Amino acid sequence: SDIGSQKDRVVTEEEWQQKWETGNTGFHKEQGHPLLQKYLDVLLNGRSGLRIFFPLCGKAVEMKWLADMGHSVIGVEVSEQALKEFFAEHGLPYCEEPVPEIPGAKKLQSTSGNISLYCCSIYELSSSIVGKFDGVWDRGALVAVNPCDRQRYVSLMITLMEKNSSYLLVTVSYDPNKHKGPPFYVPESEIKSLFG
Ligand code: SAH
Repeated sequence: SDIGSQKDRVVTEEEWQQKWETGNTGFHKEQGHPLLQKYLDVLLNGRSGLRIFFPLCGKAVEMKWLADMGHSVIGVEVSEQALKEFFAEHGLPYCEEPVPEIPGAKKLQSTSGNISLYCCSIYELSSSIVGKFDGVWDRGALVAVNPCDRQRYVSLMITLMEKNSSYLLVTVSYDPNKHKGPPFYVPESEIKSLFG
């Protein structure tokens, strides 16, 4: 299939923030994703108290699900509005603090301490700042990354993963000539070469 029509497309951080400001957030799913329920055992693999990462998290309700199961949830999102809506919509008190290593970034943390959401670009993160993760829920993340940034994104994700971690990835399959994205079409062959 031809992905030539999408490879040069760029959505800027400002454009993403605008989507949040104008309520153009059709990607947000109020009921949560059925594929996380279906593959939860693969993600957890019988383990408890995991550190689970939500790249490009938006206000994904699955963060609340996993926190309620006793895991630590860490997310990153450029839109502060999205993160504030997350805490507000779940009635969770939180506090804000700067991230000393990242100029301009903020960490919004639930008062209970088990949900930490970084407000900055994912490309600012490193394992020395956020540590490593036992599990990743990648829905609307790889497919939202600009095609030109995919390898950079995946290489970073690999550096953030513990040895025995699990990575659940949701992609979308469609004719990329009929829709400009995001979500972008990422063929399975490319996923294999990106992650190795
Ligand atoms: N994963 C979420 C949101 C998907 S939409 C869900 O399942 O609902 C993609 C999100 O990524 C948007 O909220 C957008 O604001 C955010 N985003 C885009 N580029 C980003 C970047 N470089 N770093 C962090 N967040 C980013």
